Amino acid sequence: MELPRLVVVGSGVAREVADVCRDLKLKGGALIVTGPTTCELAGEEVSRRMEDDGFDTSLMITKYSKIEEVERAERMAADMEAGFLIAVGGGRSIDVAKLASQRAKLHFVSIPTAASHDGICSAQASITIEGETTSVSAHAPLGIIADTAIISKAPKRLLAAGCGDIISNITAIRDWKLASRLRGEEYSEYASALSEMTAKMIVETAPSLKPGLEESARVVVKALISSGVAMSIAGSSRPASGSEHKFAHAVNRIDPGKALHGELCGLGTIVMMYLHGGDWKMIRSALQEVGAPTSASEIGIDEETVVEALTTAHNIRPERYTILGSGLPREAAAAAAKKTKIL
Ligand SMILES: [Zn+2]
Repeated sequence: MELPRLVVVGSGVAREVADVCRDLKLKGGALIVTGPTTCELAGEEVSRRMEDDGFDTSLMITKYSKIEEVERAERMAADMEAGFLIAVGGGRSIDVAKLASQRAKLHFVSIPTAASHDGICSAQASITIEGETTSVSAHAPLGIIADTAIISKAPKRLLAAGCGDIISNITAIRDWKLASRLRGEEYSEYASALSEMTAKMIVETAPSLKPGLEESARVVVKALISSGVAMSIAGSSRPASGSEHKFAHAVNRIDPGKALHGELCGLGTIVMMYLHGGDWKMIRSALQEVGAPTSASEIGIDEETVVEALTTAHNIRPERYTILGSGLPREAAAAAAKKTKIL
């Protein structure tokens, strides 16, 4: 099990970045990987606070989580003889720093600026290699600094997407249990219980989650961290990624860039819960309460994309057995999507 050693959540905690790095016994210079917007929002301040405390820093601004950017980060870290990396951003910067630091055998600290997906603390990095986005196994951050003052100011769509990524644990766990019963797949009660409890907590608190509120940012970011911990306990993304994630990846393959990861996972969870014979209406209303999309038209994907994604999703990570089994027939896919009002 590889778990983060220090997790700091609170208002204004990004200001304590240097203290956190010292507590983690991190030494040497820090390569700070950040995005163009997140640099202004927090990256520059993190850099200044580190410099004021005597750490050497270099800023790397990245727009894409491409393998070339991972290699650029590795080169920059080597040139400045960095002792560790810090990622300040929503997702791309974290993915780049996560993989680059692992390849360079250095630790990294994650400072998420939004609560939009569980990659902020997981060991998986989503990286584009030769035009194809894949989940690459890397390592978990040594420390996480989740500043609710920053996260609560992120666009509201991001918080809703984060809720979708957490709620998706419900079908991921059902798929895992199915694979354990049907295929004898290794199963962890602890990882499963933690992942499921985290998702149920978000479903229960959905009515009170509001964008712009620090308390809501705190609840969602802690749930994302819990999901990440569940994955660390399991040693894979199994507790937080099943058939609904396959659907999300399939949509992205067919019609890339239309929707956020968590939005697609939320949609997928509604349909997969229906296929599992579970309470899909409960999932749908929780997503509606947090302001996440519950139909394909809300995110601008058409009927053909949805049906094709549902019928081809099983081909993504085929070794990961789910309710999709060896594939959904076209008629069943269309019927499930219509029944659950995705279409
Ligand atoms: Zn996810």
